[in-house]
Amino acid sequence: MLPSFELLEPHSLDEALKMLATSEATPLAGGTNLLPDLRAHGRAGRRFISLAALDQLRGVEHKGNRVIMGGSTTLNDILRDPLMPKAAPSLVSMAKVFAGTMIRNAATIAGNICYGSPSADAIPPLLSVDAEVTLTSAAGERTLPLDSFLLGYKKTAHQPDELLKTVAWTIPAADSANLFYKLGRRRGDAITVVGVAVTVVIESGSCSKARIALGSVAPTVFRAKEAENILIGGPLTAATIDQAALTAAQASRPIDDIRASAEYRRHAVHMLVRRLLTQAWQTSGAKQHD
Ligand SMILES: Cc1cc2nc3c(=O)[nH]c(=O)nc-3n(C[C@H](O)[C@H](O)[C@H](O)COP(=O)(O)OP(=O)(O)OC[C@H]3O[C@@H](n4cnc5c(N)ncnc54)[C@H](O)[C@@H]3O)c2cc1C
Repeated sequence: MLPSFELLEPHSLDEALKMLATSEATPLAGGTNLLPDLRAHGRAGRRFISLAALDQLRGVEHKGNRVIMGGSTTLNDILRDPLMPKAAPSLVSMAKVFAGTMIRNAATIAGNICYGSPSADAIPPLLSVDAEVTLTSAAGERTLPLDSFLLGYKKTAHQPDELLKTVAWTIPAADSANLFYKLGRRRGDAITVVGVAVTVVIESGSCSKARIALGSVAPTVFRAKEAENILIGGPLTAATIDQAALTAAQASRPIDDIRASAEYRRHAVHMLVRRLLTQAWQTSGAKQHD
């Protein structure tokens, strides 16, 4: 049974921010993390602020080559957006394998990011497109790279009086590939064993930019930056791809749990990063040389 709780229901963003500044309440979006947690470990009398009526926080704007997504945009909103397959292919691949449709109707992008779970599926794709988050409070707004927002296991730079207002990024360049793969114990409704998102930008047959983001293999989702650097400045040969994939696996700090051993996860990172980089190189239109 759910312990009793108090629910504040603001009708505007300003009202919500005032409540957050003064009432020690927690934002409640889709509730798909918070309510199971409350049922499992909650104490009675907690206070929540429902974001349900704040339409300003929901929806996707495409402005030139920028995408600005409201924090309360749901996973199914992402799948319904006709421009998203070009704006962030990895995010669409992720949304297709995120939970089941009922959860996707409620689960929001801000809830996924702010919960700070190492297995948050939306984070690797967003890191792979260099997303930034904008946080707003009664005192003002600040924008920071998503990469620096993630501080550790269920620890983020989010302050109690702030709401995550938007997530924004620049659409990947034309000569690029942006891919995601989720390894789980089964196809539907599975907590991720390893999540990988990669971006490569190829200019005149040479890799000018690379991103490798990994989920479920460290206390927080992270970018394997040393591995990314191996790819820059030349064609992606089988040897460089394998070296980068191995370096990404070595940068992982997985744990043993009921879903997989740490050793298996590290091996899966090596194999999946190698597979996605190979696919990315091939789909970005370049020819691989050995
Ligand atoms: C059956 C089931 C299947 C699931 N499958 C997956 C899956 O495949 N992949 C996956 O990654 N997750 C999965 N989840 C976890 C969960 O659905 C997601 O993390 C979801 O994105 C959380 O969003 P929410 O809107 O429900 O967040 P909530 O539960 O409402 O909130 C989560 C946290 O974010 C904070 N928050 C929410 N919105 C804001 C905001 N705008 N500003 C500041 N803080 C905010 C809340 O205060 C809270 O701390 C699953 C959960 C269930 C129950």
